[in-house]
Amino acid sequence: MTTGRVVVVKQYREPFVIEEYELPDPEPGGLVLKITQAGICGSDLHTWRGDQVNVPLPESGRVMGHEGTGVVYQLGKGTTTDSNGQPLREGDRVMYSAIKPCGNCYQCMRGEPNWCPSGPYSDAGEWPYFTGTYADYYWIRAKHPVFKVPDELPDSVLGWVNCAMGTVTEGLMRAGAAEGDYVVIQGAGGLGLNATAMAKDMGAHRVIVLDRLADRLALAEEFGADYTINIEEYDTPEARLGRVLELTDGRGANIAMELVGRAELLVEGVSYLTNGGTFVEIGDIVRGRTVEFDPSTILRGKKIIGSLMYRPHLLPLMMETLVKNQGKVPYDRIVSNIYPLEHVNEAFAEAEWNERQTTVSRGMLVP
Ligand SMILES: [Zn+2]
Ligand SMILES: [Zn+2]
Repeated sequence: MTTGRVVVVKQYREPFVIEEYELPDPEPGGLVLKITQAGICGSDLHTWRGDQVNVPLPESGRVMGHEGTGVVYQLGKGTTTDSNGQPLREGDRVMYSAIKPCGNCYQCMRGEPNWCPSGPYSDAGEWPYFTGTYADYYWIRAKHPVFKVPDELPDSVLGWVNCAMGTVTEGLMRAGAAEGDYVVIQGAGGLGLNATAMAKDMGAHRVIVLDRLADRLALAEEFGADYTINIEEYDTPEARLGRVLELTDGRGANIAMELVGRAELLVEGVSYLTNGGTFVEIGDIVRGRTVEFDPSTILRGKKIIGSLMYRPHLLPLMMETLVKNQGKVPYDRIVSNIYPLEHVNEAFAEAEWNERQTTVSRGMLVP
């Protein structure tokens, strides 16, 4: 009998609890991964902080962790390949979809599995137990999108692919990112660094990144940012808009992306747009925060769209982008801190970025 640990949030604003469960066999067509890395994402920090109080927790608590990667621990009966038909063997490194689409609801049938209402998290203690990535194992059901990791990629660039990288790639695609675009990125954390590199990869002519930390902005430049704006220096929305206009030939950006998680940045982000431009809301996932907004500002074809997670077919494409950009983009510097799984509470305390700024770009838990 194999057992493993699972990190559970029992109550908001209380330390996470580590529970131990018996590992079930994989189902036919499915597989079990041994988790090698699990990322601490902004959304996990919201859970930690208790920002999600209006999303009630089940009585047994909820499993934690959605991004990460692992190696095949056990293949289910009949599982011989990944979703692209590549042969899979025990020990192979695998990237899985962090969303768990049901496959037959209205959204899934429309090709929008990332909007499927079936959430990524299960109740703690509910079979098959290993449904979050802050755990020793991850139980993957049959037909779930999984892709073999290319041999060329080191583990150090894999932990955030199925959340941060996927989310910003999807957002840029939904905004119609194209050659010649001017793109403004609000926030230079894990999302912002990925968005910077991906926007350049998709042909953006100029990428402008805003943050308050000089070292993050310096890193954004290494990820391809053409210009950075330190919001401590440009410390009013008017000053920042003025600088964005200066850097976009006076016309504004084609795309602005909110990757910080502050509601008021919607108004500011829309102000950066050129006529016909698109503002992409990604960061502000906490319910109940509102802004005052003047609708007349968007009459000239400006669009506000939201984007959440990604369509799983992007996973192998993104890994190929990582291979292509090896040695050019310092992807291995997104993960700044690695913690053993049993130090999950300490890891969250350090990654906490609200109120006091932190130097942690992205923390990674390693079982
Ligand atoms: Zn995430
Ligand atoms: Zn569905």
